[in-house]
Amino acid sequence: MRLDEIPMPPAVAARPRDARGYPVLAITPWSEGTPDFAITSTARILVCAVERRCSICGTGLGKGPVWRVVAAEEAAAIGRVLIDGQSYANTAKTVEPPGHRACMLYAAMVCPYLARPTARRGTDASVPDAEFSRGETHGSAQGLTGAVVAFDTYEFEVGETVLFRFSGLCSYLPYALGDEHLAALREAITEQPMAGPSPSWLLDDEPAAEDRATRYA
Ligand SMILES: [Zn+2]
Repeated sequence: MRLDEIPMPPAVAARPRDARGYPVLAITPWSEGTPDFAITSTARILVCAVERRCSICGTGLGKGPVWRVVAAEEAAAIGRVLIDGQSYANTAKTVEPPGHRACMLYAAMVCPYLARPTARRGTDASVPDAEFSRGETHGSAQGLTGAVVAFDTYEFEVGETVLFRFSGLCSYLPYALGDEHLAALREAITEQPMAGPSPSWLLDDEPAAEDRATRYA
């Protein structure tokens, strides 16, 4: 699927854009007017975690479940647990913050490393004791590229990074290709009205983001 054929959630469309016109995530830091897509900002992740905001669009997550995209190994592990009829508890902490259903489905379709099994991750995706590290192929386990999953709640702790722990698995959408999420993405966009604009401290003003995070650290 071409990028311009994938419907963009309104809250993502409202994000600041880079020079090419690509929307910039709420957790992507800016330096001198340019976003640095290669890294995520711990300050911005902290602000999103405390204020219960989507890491992609920066607007409120509301009271319902929160969503994430998990890599192949974790997706396969969740699938095995569900087949066994047990409940899944994510005991491993992760640096990857939650977001809206529509935003995470969109990410799974458009992010090169999330959308295709052979893509490689550019950054460490988890803490050192977990399985996903720099340069590992994202896909492999049982033909899965990953899964878009929802949890009832999250907790987080602040150290050098912000570490999340999710519990209460309530939705599991495994996939081999990001394109498989098209129908679900359309539905999520329809069902999820935009929760107001992103706050000014999660746009392109890095000092504003840092100031906000300092209050919470
Ligand atoms: Zn969002």
